[in-house]
Amino acid sequence: MRPLIDLHGRRIRYLRISITDRCNLRCRYCMPLSGIRWVPHERVLSYEEMLRILRICIKRGVEKVRITGGEPLLRKGIVDFISQVNTIDGLRDLTLTTNGILLEPMALQLKEAGLRRVNVSLDTLDAEKFAYITHVDAFHEVIRGICAAHEQGLSPVKINAVAIRGFNDGEISDFAQLTMTLPLQVRFIELMPIGCITKYPENENISATQIKESIEQRFGPLETLERGLGPAWIYRIPGARGSIGLIGALSERDFCGSCNRIRITATGNLRPCLFSEEHIDLLGPMRGGILDEELEALIEEGVRRKPSGHGVCRGMELFHEAGRARMSDIGG
Ligand code: SAM
Ligand code: SF4
Repeated sequence: MRPLIDLHGRRIRYLRISITDRCNLRCRYCMPLSGIRWVPHERVLSYEEMLRILRICIKRGVEKVRITGGEPLLRKGIVDFISQVNTIDGLRDLTLTTNGILLEPMALQLKEAGLRRVNVSLDTLDAEKFAYITHVDAFHEVIRGICAAHEQGLSPVKINAVAIRGFNDGEISDFAQLTMTLPLQVRFIELMPIGCITKYPENENISATQIKESIEQRFGPLETLERGLGPAWIYRIPGARGSIGLIGALSERDFCGSCNRIRITATGNLRPCLFSEEHIDLLGPMRGGILDEELEALIEEGVRRKPSGHGVCRGMELFHEAGRARMSDIGG
């Protein structure tokens, strides 16, 4: 097997694929309340096209696939798609990121289709604040979704919370406290300048280090656990059943040095870096009748274009064509 290795020696093992740009929430940092102009169905990758890309990437050493969106559970046929992805030889980990609203009725089918785990995005433990940040009153559906995922063995369920000063900084300890009694992983993600936030959110950002300090102030020094293939550093409060993940996408010095990821957007672009407009169109060539070897060569080219680092720093405006890059198309 010839692995996919970029020009900086990083080997690609993890692929995130966004299967839809549509969403049933309007998280303030991600999507405007009015919604966005949805991409017409014919410009979104079909499941067959996604499988074709995935087969090649897995053949070239991708071990972990994350299905994301928009809201991936909104796309019809996702359960069948998961069972097909699950049959690809060489895949070691298949997971999904969801807002959790549709998770309760789907958890069993997802597990049976071969999904291993889920990450559920939940930025607050307060139903009113949830309605504020997402513009939808659906906190209890998400909680039921988390419970159903756990009961069906999609575990450990990981909870993704974007840390936002003035919104949920007072809840960091409460999230951490959950891990004392529940076998969950609570992951804090730094707010990134993408989607509805196109400038470095100086006032709203809380760094991974600040989050760790605030947890240690309350619970004492954290134990460091082994990292997986993902971007998080993993810790545990001594004696806790669950764990805590910290993702310092902006503040961590060598975050990019260990990056092993590529992304496929709902519209069929290979994005070598979340923070870069650089991309390679796979959809057009595939629909133009490209052969598998040629598609593989395009994927290699995408990997070669992976920048050494994202270069996002304080005060810097990230996307020159603000609003073009959407988390809901790229998938986070
Ligand atoms: N709709 C699904 C969900 O919310 O889990 C999957 C897609 S969503 C784009 C994936 C993740 O990106 C979510 O955890 C979300 O909170 C995160 N996200 C979106 N915009 C972000 C931003 N500006 N900074 C940090 N995380 C962001
Ligand atoms: Fe939808 Fe996820 Fe974006 Fe929230 S973060 S608007 S749930 S895509």
